[in-house]
Amino acid sequence: MRIETFTQTPFQQNTRVAVCERTKQAIVIDPGERCVEPENFLRDNGLSLAAITLTHGHLDHVGGTSALHAAFPEAEIIIHPDDEDLYYALQRQPLFMGISPEQLAPLGLDYDAPPKITRNWEDGETFEVGELRFSVRHCPGHTRGHVVLAELTDKVVFVGDCLFENSIGRTDLPGGDHEQLLDSIRRNILSLDDDFEVHSGHGPVTTVGRERQHNPFLNGTYQIERGRYV
Ligand SMILES: [Zn+2]
Ligand SMILES: [Zn+2]
Repeated sequence: MRIETFTQTPFQQNTRVAVCERTKQAIVIDPGERCVEPENFLRDNGLSLAAITLTHGHLDHVGGTSALHAAFPEAEIIIHPDDEDLYYALQRQPLFMGISPEQLAPLGLDYDAPPKITRNWEDGETFEVGELRFSVRHCPGHTRGHVVLAELTDKVVFVGDCLFENSIGRTDLPGGDHEQLLDSIRRNILSLDDDFEVHSGHGPVTTVGRERQHNPFLNGTYQIERGRYV
């Protein structure tokens, strides 16, 4: 699998193109903003975009869906049903975060209406892109409908905002739940082998083994119970 990363938005979000090199089929994972770079990359490399695949519905992960859909109208748009409400509320999300209407255009957060979802993720399904086979795992906690996509042959997992190098996703936004997120990470990400590459929605690429050992939220350094550090 070839993976190309474009870091976008004021939130430094990692938009990724994952490519099956043998069949030239590709997916874009979490297009963060309207931006021609992923589109140019697909066209310049003669790739066919099978789907716009969304790990979750936050604005910095779905803000570029409309532009990409306009460029590749045949591509599926896939999200978990529990994050559809967030996705369709894209234009109002910055206001929920305390950003004022005048700031939207300067920050690039003045979104077009999001296009219709064409399909929903199902927990446990295998999603095929050419010869790539992604295991789709529902990981609620950062949002209700977050999923991670694990390619078990190439040992790569796209984790969105569940897990970062030395950190985990925030759980203070609507639908967030700290204990649920830890449970999701243990069940769906730490259950993978140590040598899996972890591609996060923000920040550098890490591995399951490195996070198992060094991530303070996962190795026992920080333990939060009933809202307190213990
Ligand atoms: Zn998020
Ligand atoms: Zn994010």
